[in-house]
Amino acid sequence: MSYTLPEFLAHAVALEQEAAERYLELADMMEAHRNDAVAQIFRDMNRFSLLHYEEVKKRAGSLELPKLKSWQFRWSAPPEKGGDEAFDYMLEPYNALRYARENEERAMAYYRSVADAAPDGEVRRLANEFAAEESEHVAALDKWLAQTPRPAVLAWDADPGSVQPAA
Ligand code: ZN
Repeated sequence: MSYTLPEFLAHAVALEQEAAERYLELADMMEAHRNDAVAQIFRDMNRFSLLHYEEVKKRAGSLELPKLKSWQFRWSAPPEKGGDEAFDYMLEPYNALRYARENEERAMAYYRSVADAAPDGEVRRLANEFAAEESEHVAALDKWLAQTPRPAVLAWDADPGSVQPAA
């Protein structure tokens, strides 16, 4: 992916806005199930995404940013589950954290791939900076995952490629 600065900023704005919305949903979901500790983690992540969103908007200034298609920045859906557990497995804090982690990792990989391919020095600099921020988010979620009990129904139980936090 080789972007101009406005194209790159448009993606970053959309990614952060999407993340902020998903974290708010996850926080509300945890709160509805009286898991205030995990709700608070998601509220913090929501706040970080909003702050980042504001920073990127400020960096864009008066640059006109291109419109994007939703598939270019949406979070990937939680993995599908069949059977009776399909409805509520995402209410398990562990699975909700894993879902967030997958998407943070995806954002990190995205920013890295942009940095690697960018001919524009400023795009490269910003993409590296954003990738570093995302890797901090991944690390924070890993820390919480390590402290969260693993439920009977794992969201990613059949995925050997995904990273297991040291529990
Ligand atoms: Zn993030």
